[in-house]
Amino acid sequence: MGGPTAVAGFQRSLGDWFRAEAKDYPWRRTRDPYAILVSELMLQQTQIATVLGRGYYDRWLRAFPDWSTLAAAEEEAVLKLWEGLGYYNRARNLHRAAKIITEEYRGHFPDDPATALSLPGVGRYTVGAVLSFAYGQAVPLVDGNVGRVLARVLALEEAINSPGGLKILWDWAEALLDREDPATHNSALMELGQRICRPGKPDCPSCPVRGHCLADHGGLAETLPVKTKPAAITKRVEHVILAERSGEIYLCQESGSRRRGLWRLPEISAEEAADLTEMLRFDYTITRYRVTLLVHAPSPLWRPARSSSEGGAWFPFRASAPLPPLGAPYRRALDLYGNLRDGLDLKA
Ligand code: SF4
Repeated sequence: MGGPTAVAGFQRSLGDWFRAEAKDYPWRRTRDPYAILVSELMLQQTQIATVLGRGYYDRWLRAFPDWSTLAAAEEEAVLKLWEGLGYYNRARNLHRAAKIITEEYRGHFPDDPATALSLPGVGRYTVGAVLSFAYGQAVPLVDGNVGRVLARVLALEEAINSPGGLKILWDWAEALLDREDPATHNSALMELGQRICRPGKPDCPSCPVRGHCLADHGGLAETLPVKTKPAAITKRVEHVILAERSGEIYLCQESGSRRRGLWRLPEISAEEAADLTEMLRFDYTITRYRVTLLVHAPSPLWRPARSSSEGGAWFPFRASAPLPPLGAPYRRALDLYGNLRDGLDLKA
């Protein structure tokens, strides 16, 4: 892009389009940094349709309307409300950030980027989002959508997921930022990437910044951005048992930091599973693993492990008695099992 005039023209085209076409989301109707941070963390790995359409955002703000309410909540209640969104570290980090903001910053989200960056779960993108949307500060942001738009507008040859490519994108985001209205500018770039400058085949004829776009001029729109190859998917098989007695099911606690605080069906080895009856199976994906989950009925002699490390317990299994927070695959297995047991169709 050329000099200041071209930059101002880009900002004006983008801002005018957004003011006329912006989608109406609840987090765009507020300047509350808490509500904005909740939306940003929920949307990091989850579609807008899930966060809004399935009521996660509204439910969360009703249960935990501010930093202090969230800070005072039990972790189990926090994870329960997040259940189904996955990537539970987002919820744990939000919980920890609420405690820090309540205790150390008197309930005020830090307005200094370096301090904000020190909060758990808050990366450079999130700092840009909260400080520009809530406080109107001239702080840029780059997420997947913004990175794709900028890489096309400026015909970036480096891979956008390489350290060098990312540095260039952040420098460009800073240089192009509309300092008079950073909230509109940042939101507009994100929405342009979601709706028009989409992955694969962008809708260039509808694009408000087409006149500024080097990729479109050079016929490169569909070949950009460049990316390095993602890590290969690894397949694995996971065997679990679903033990039910007198209307109760047996669950044990997850170990490891990623799933701490969640519950699961007890895992068994392939050898232990060999003689058991398979009840259900389905595939799920987590990070770079494609996992086939096989759910078995336990043998009549099965008893919960005596080892205290398993931390297992029996829970009532009926609609009126909510289970503790479960990892998504185990929630799905129990839903399928409940349908099967109640004689409904099984749709894995
Ligand atoms: S002209 Fe096409 S490639 Fe360029 S920013 Fe717009 S939609 Fe993206």
